[in-house]
Amino acid sequence: MAEKRDYYEVLGVEKGSDKKEIKKAYRKLAMQYHPDVSEDPESAEKFKEISEAYAVLSDEEKRNTYDQYGHAGMGGFSQEDIFNNINFEDIFRGFGFGGGSGGGGAGFENIFDLFGFGGSRRNGPRQGDDIGYQMEITLEEAAQGMERDIEVSHKKTCPRCEGSKAEPGTESRVCPQCGGSGQVRQVNNTPLGQFATIRPCNACHGEGKIVDTPCTECHGKGIIKQTNTIHIKIPAGVEDDSRLRVPGEGDIGERGGPPGDLYILIHVKEHPLFKREGSDLKYQMPISFVQASLGDTVEIPTLDGAVDLKIPSGTQSGTSFRVKGHGMPHMRWTGKGNLYVKVKVVTPKKLSAKQKELLMEFADVSGEEIYSQDKGFFDKMKDAIGH
Ligand SMILES: [Zn+2]
Ligand SMILES: [Zn+2]
Repeated sequence: MAEKRDYYEVLGVEKGSDKKEIKKAYRKLAMQYHPDVSEDPESAEKFKEISEAYAVLSDEEKRNTYDQYGHAGMGGFSQEDIFNNINFEDIFRGFGFGGGSGGGGAGFENIFDLFGFGGSRRNGPRQGDDIGYQMEITLEEAAQGMERDIEVSHKKTCPRCEGSKAEPGTESRVCPQCGGSGQVRQVNNTPLGQFATIRPCNACHGEGKIVDTPCTECHGKGIIKQTNTIHIKIPAGVEDDSRLRVPGEGDIGERGGPPGDLYILIHVKEHPLFKREGSDLKYQMPISFVQASLGDTVEIPTLDGAVDLKIPSGTQSGTSFRVKGHGMPHMRWTGKGNLYVKVKVVTPKKLSAKQKELLMEFADVSGEEIYSQDKGFFDKMKDAIGH
């Protein structure tokens, strides 16, 4: 296979071109190489090449990837992903293609029809859609892990017609308009010449068969919405915004395709006492300056109940103490994180006369001279102490 050409080179634009220039260049080339217009036997290939280049360069994310990694970086995008990006109606606007037919301005539904890989896309098996489900749990539930039954509404094969769309006892018949292929070829005359287009048959909506007596349960859709109870297990230690995948519980696939998956988005509510950081928990505890100075043993809350914490004498405000094993369970290995207790020394806002007196005495003994703004208080103090 020939080396793949640079997308910028294919469109004949500079690397730094803006969206407008890229679109203009593509429009010009697209008109030239449209396989129904061009005499060039390789026009379809050329059209595909320029369309691919345009599809990538007109999309910010894809263009960034391409600029960084070149063709090698494009492996993460499927062909469908790339080509579906092009709005042909917009590109060919004003050129009279398919005018008045209501949409499909390029003369074909999309590029898949043009290159013929639309057939398998439309008629082949397709995986069902994924379903998202949001769930809110408490920090305690996250710590212990939990099981819960949830109600999920998803599309299932209709049990009455088993997906055939026809009422049991009746049969569908081959579509007379398309002969069962689900597609019709149409030739349109346009100012640029004749366009052969392939469209899904509108008599059977691309299905190839006609159901005269639709199933009464699904009204001829072959699928129904059903609410099922699904039992889920949430592992201990689950983090906020985790996605839990339940395989096969999404919507039913089409034409024999596998079902999609159910994704449960778990939101762990904020806890009034604890802040979580990974598998550690943080807790802030106020203590008095007496406790901080003299030391104390205090009771602290944990997710597993209250435990004692020894505060040594001379503790400074802002000091953190580790309470081992009282954090959240690790998700990937055994054991738990820690609880960190940060103490905050609280200065009393109101003092009784007695407390003030003792503090003044404390200051005196410590050799501190206190010049309080509270003059009246000092006078009373002096009287009280008898100086
Ligand atoms: Zn049915
Ligand atoms: Zn048909």
